[in-house]
Amino acid sequence: MPGAIRYRFDVNYFRSIDTDAKAYWLGLLAADGCVTDRSVALSLKYSDAAHVRAFKDELAANQPVYRSRDMAGLLIYSIAFAKSLAARGLVRRKTKRLIFPDIPDRLAPAFIRGYFDGDGSIYTTVAGTETRWIAEFCGTEMMMRGVRARLDVLNVPGYLYSRRNGMWITRYQNMSVRWLRDVLYENASVWLPRKRALFDRCGKSEYSCRMCTVSFRPVRNSQLYCSDLCNLRACRQRKRQTATPR
Ligand SMILES: [Zn+2]
Repeated sequence: MPGAIRYRFDVNYFRSIDTDAKAYWLGLLAADGCVTDRSVALSLKYSDAAHVRAFKDELAANQPVYRSRDMAGLLIYSIAFAKSLAARGLVRRKTKRLIFPDIPDRLAPAFIRGYFDGDGSIYTTVAGTETRWIAEFCGTEMMMRGVRARLDVLNVPGYLYSRRNGMWITRYQNMSVRWLRDVLYENASVWLPRKRALFDRCGKSEYSCRMCTVSFRPVRNSQLYCSDLCNLRACRQRKRQTATPR
């Protein structure tokens, strides 16, 4: 066809999931992508257009990112490309059927980071004087069980529950949100900046013990000592101080 523009891109991109970036974009597509038998689309809020362009660059695609109302999107027509995603469980009407894909364990955090950037939220609630951080994923029961199991193995404990509409939530609170941040962003090559910025506000995941100064991961916001032993030593010290005659 003379005059027709030929769009090119790396159709084999998702053939093997072997990098942080591939696992990440697979996760984002799992959450926010629209997959049919012959097309794959990623559309995000227009304010995240730079992120859609990053995906386009990653695919070495030469077609433009389109704008539709307040959305920015990349739409790729390719049966082969759609098939490579279907092989990873990203199929038509995936909202009801999505499962955690079969990818190497070391890339699970990257996939979960991508999924979070699509279907995750992080926010604070105030309970009394305490500000509580919460990070949540939303999706099918199978996907949520998969996310929770992978993070559990990495020592990030979370809760799982279902909503009346049939969707499931995996929820992380307080210190778990900080551990989740550490796991998701360690050695990360790609992320949505506005979500990472929120994670960066939720506080340190390591404290220095007030007694022995060793660095430790507290399980509560208010924990001052690394261990029961240091807690006991501190307690004894306080007692001695109050027992000292003045
Ligand atoms: Zn200590």
